Amino acid sequence: MPATKPIYKRILLKISGEALAGDKGFGINGQVLRQVASDLKAAKNLGIQIAVVIGGGNIFRGLSAAEEGMDRVNCDYMGMLATCINALALQDVLEQQGVSTRVMSAIELSDIAEPYIRRRALRHLEKERLLIFSGGTGNPYFTTDTAASLRAMEIEAEVLLKATKVDGVFDKDPEKNKNSKKFAKISYIDVLNKELKIMDSAAISLCMDNRLTLIAFNLKHKGNLVKVVCGEKIGTIINHQG
Ligand code: UDP
Repeated sequence: MPATKPIYKRILLKISGEALAGDKGFGINGQVLRQVASDLKAAKNLGIQIAVVIGGGNIFRGLSAAEEGMDRVNCDYMGMLATCINALALQDVLEQQGVSTRVMSAIELSDIAEPYIRRRALRHLEKERLLIFSGGTGNPYFTTDTAASLRAMEIEAEVLLKATKVDGVFDKDPEKNKNSKKFAKISYIDVLNKELKIMDSAAISLCMDNRLTLIAFNLKHKGNLVKVVCGEKIGTIINHQG
């Protein structure tokens, strides 16, 4: 029988905006959102403290818009706002499922989200509220992957879980190459040297410098989050040794 005892007390889960779009590739897919929320609820019911960093790529990506001629910094703020839209959607669905949540934002949005204050974030986690971090790092030229590494360190999460739409880290894009090989484990430095597309290099470097273990896994399969927090070997573990 698979284990149902968590091996972590506090985790940070990074969910990209793209993951919320489902097959449409844009916007928010209600069914996907409800599944993510129920997976989060199941993991939380095991007694672990959960923080989520949410992306915004399903609504707006700063770099892509800047390439079309808009001002990059403006575009990045638009991207940060997109993460806040996703955060409110996730909060809504979680609360419908009876999960107590708080949304914190790295950019000021006082009508809809609390400002990010580390001590307050820790207090929410201790009070068993699921915490959703929005607004990325609050700075242009960054990504929500980097925000996830940063917040994971700040809240002293034991692991950073990166939700993806494939089963982990592969040597080649598994959606384009039938013969791609999945790594069970890999070191941060190999991820950087091989330029494997799992998180951007700033995010990986931050994990590497601070020895924060990263696990990439497929959130599309219901129940995977519980499996990962219970130590089942699905996905890819990224750490110092590899
Ligand atoms: N963004 C930013 N600073 C941050 C985090 C995000 O400027 O610290 C902007 C950036 O334009 C990015 C957009 O927000 O393209 C959406 O975030 P991201 O691309 O990381 O979302 P994801 O790929 O996870 O959906």
